[in-house]
Amino acid sequence: MNNSKNVLRYIYGEGAINSLNGLVNERKNQKDDYAIYLVDDFFKDKSVLEEVFDSQNDIKLFIPTEHEPTTDYVDNMATEIKGYNEKLPCVLVGIGGGITLDVTKAVANLLTNPGKSEDYQGWDLVKNSAVYKIGVPTLSGTGAEASRTCVLTNTSRGLKLGMNSEFSIFDQLVLDPTLTKTVPHDQYFYTGMDTYIHCIESLNGTFRHALADAHSRQALELCKEVFQSNNMQSDSNRAKLMTASYFGGVAIANSLVGIVHPFSAGLSIVLGLHHCFANCIVMNVMGEFYPAEAEEFKKMLEINNIKLPTGICNSLSEDEFELLYSSTVIHERPLANALGDFRRVLTRKKVREIFQKM
Ligand code: NAD
Ligand code: ZN
Repeated sequence: MNNSKNVLRYIYGEGAINSLNGLVNERKNQKDDYAIYLVDDFFKDKSVLEEVFDSQNDIKLFIPTEHEPTTDYVDNMATEIKGYNEKLPCVLVGIGGGITLDVTKAVANLLTNPGKSEDYQGWDLVKNSAVYKIGVPTLSGTGAEASRTCVLTNTSRGLKLGMNSEFSIFDQLVLDPTLTKTVPHDQYFYTGMDTYIHCIESLNGTFRHALADAHSRQALELCKEVFQSNNMQSDSNRAKLMTASYFGGVAIANSLVGIVHPFSAGLSIVLGLHHCFANCIVMNVMGEFYPAEAEEFKKMLEINNIKLPTGICNSLSEDEFELLYSSTVIHERPLANALGDFRRVLTRKKVREIFQKM
């Protein structure tokens, strides 16, 4: 049985971002204490967060989001940060989407644990508690703000796996729906759908319990309200989706995903597609496994005028199909959660047929 831990504290609501300064300063007890802010590249030239950084000692680093984070990337960043100062930062603040939040979690672990990030990809391998970290999501859906993992691509091992550990959980969150105002239309849909997909996968699986189900159901309800309305990005819908994302993250910490995520991971490994976009492409062909939800998903695509590409696996080589297969079936726990003895259903031929529908 899981001995579950949640994020210790959160401040929620419009304007919550104005509390960040105070929260960071509370962590500073000595003159040479300093904070490091890891900020999504999008905010580089924007004035929105200007007043948040006011200390001369603090360091601000921008996180690129073109590619999802790799183990090499976070290893290099941790080494760079250790080189700044003999003393570790007293707080790490991650402000951005899932990429930035995951980089913050991974770096916070690496600053207090020896070795490389790949040593900690898996379940409960992190030994020492991380540097205190504050998460400020600016995009809702992954649940990374609430979850106990940070997903990293290990290119040399062809593996996308998180540091699943209670040390990966944020100590403090600042949940301010005004920060998601600027998210582009399609991105808002793709990332928001990650919550929907986490929850339908979890509720259709066998590894679950009533408390996780309650979080999933509430998150799902909110997702439906948002994505079946005529303006998914209205003020109230952005607040709802931020709540859904948090609930979805808590739910997933106590359950497992299902078929969509393993196939989506295959697409990320072979075609380099981003997680939430890849999930949507997979969800679109899941009629056989999740019939009611796949139909509902298609309606939400239509309502929000989202056009997904098709034929994305049409020109792949045999080797690439083989890699798609292996990088999908490697995710045994979620596949078993959905299908039990999944290898009987997901033969090589079947997996290929599913990818060919995308
Ligand atoms: P992202 O971090 O990939 O960002 C997507 C785009 O949105 C980027 O271009 C970014 O700059 C932009 N953006 C972010 N906030 C914005 C804002 N307020 N205004 C305008 N643009 C903004 O997005 P994501 O979908 O949230 O995260 C995906 C990542 O999350 C993947 O790396 C995935 O593996 C990870 N993930 C983690 C967990 C977890 O539990 N840790 C769960 C699911 C996914
Ligand atoms: Zn996901």
